[in-house]
Amino acid sequence: MNSLRVDSDRLWSALMEIGRIGETAAGGSRRLALTAEDGEARHLLCRWAKEAGCSVTVDRLGNIFARREGSDPQAAPVMVGSHLDTVPTGGKFDGILGVIAGLEMIRRLNDQQVATRAPIELVCWTNEEGARFSPMTLGSSVFVGDIALDFALSRQDPSGVTVGEALERIGYAGSSPVGGRKVGTYLELHVEQGPLLKEGGEQIGVVTGSFKALYFVATVKGQAAHVGPTLMEQRSDAMVGAAALTLEIDRIGRSRGRDGRSNAPHIEIYPNVRGVIPAEVRLSCDVRHRDPEEAVQMEAELRAACRKVEQERGVTITLEQYFEFGPVEMDARMTGLVRETADQLGLTHRDILTVASHDAVPMMRLCPTALIFVPSETGISHNETEYSTPAQCAAGADVLLNMALRLAS
Ligand SMILES: [Zn+2]
Repeated sequence: MNSLRVDSDRLWSALMEIGRIGETAAGGSRRLALTAEDGEARHLLCRWAKEAGCSVTVDRLGNIFARREGSDPQAAPVMVGSHLDTVPTGGKFDGILGVIAGLEMIRRLNDQQVATRAPIELVCWTNEEGARFSPMTLGSSVFVGDIALDFALSRQDPSGVTVGEALERIGYAGSSPVGGRKVGTYLELHVEQGPLLKEGGEQIGVVTGSFKALYFVATVKGQAAHVGPTLMEQRSDAMVGAAALTLEIDRIGRSRGRDGRSNAPHIEIYPNVRGVIPAEVRLSCDVRHRDPEEAVQMEAELRAACRKVEQERGVTITLEQYFEFGPVEMDARMTGLVRETADQLGLTHRDILTVASHDAVPMMRLCPTALIFVPSETGISHNETEYSTPAQCAAGADVLLNMALRLAS
């Protein structure tokens, strides 16, 4: 069977063009979910998809579906996609590659006048990052029925704007229901966001499953007092407690070598005033491990660390879980097909676990799903220097194209 290849130059120029929306001085992108910049990127995607002959549907949560008909309109579509939103310090590839590679695939099928039996649907999910609205993977999670639509629409950003209001503002509060759409298989191409493929020199990462990840908010309570007259021995400083806990969290991850991760990336501090000892800090944190039992053990260590900090720092700490994902195991037939397709294209590959969640994680509960990684050349992501080369991006898009062709025939 002859393999089709994407137009690498066209793929790259589309990636760079959409990356200029919300471009930062250091060459990354800042395009938080449902901001004006996200709206502009969505408009461009919809225009491109319509120019490629697709019909475009937007659901009530702003998920965008661009459909290229197949010869059998009753057949369940092969869905491909990812997200266009970024974190504030985002790059041009995380999420965007999966969407733009799907677009390039449709353009290529058009060039070659290839008719598929099943329709192909390109999807752009709403608020994957969870940087503006929590939780993450919001659009895909509601689509598969994990999260209620009303709950999702009522999520607020830090300034109190809800998802529903933000959708209205940018014109993406669509009319079609969220979910209930026929999907045969789901394919997502994504950058690895870590260093393993670059280290190993493989061109394709075949994601076979995920780490287990547990997410918490630690609420550290101290006592507000004047920063001047209060003796050091009298203080109950929530910020100091949170700082000590942060170091403990870091230690818990480091003690697992390369198989574990732990983070405390977000704090809210009250009253956050220069003259007042902090009374309360809310610290968002997570622990992750490739072995789910170890992740549970890390949680136990985190709870023990809270007790230790309470005693040493005279604060009280409550730990509440707010999210979790994994361990997931990808559909073996789909991972087999990724390997086969990479082989057929002469691309080197290795099996890999994802440490981050992606829209493919909720989607795999709905239908056979494949998640395909390409190397992150700089080994870093959620950073403006995030980079994958044109050849790396094209190799991933080639796998996506040929897999979709097989599945849609
Ligand atoms: Zn992503």
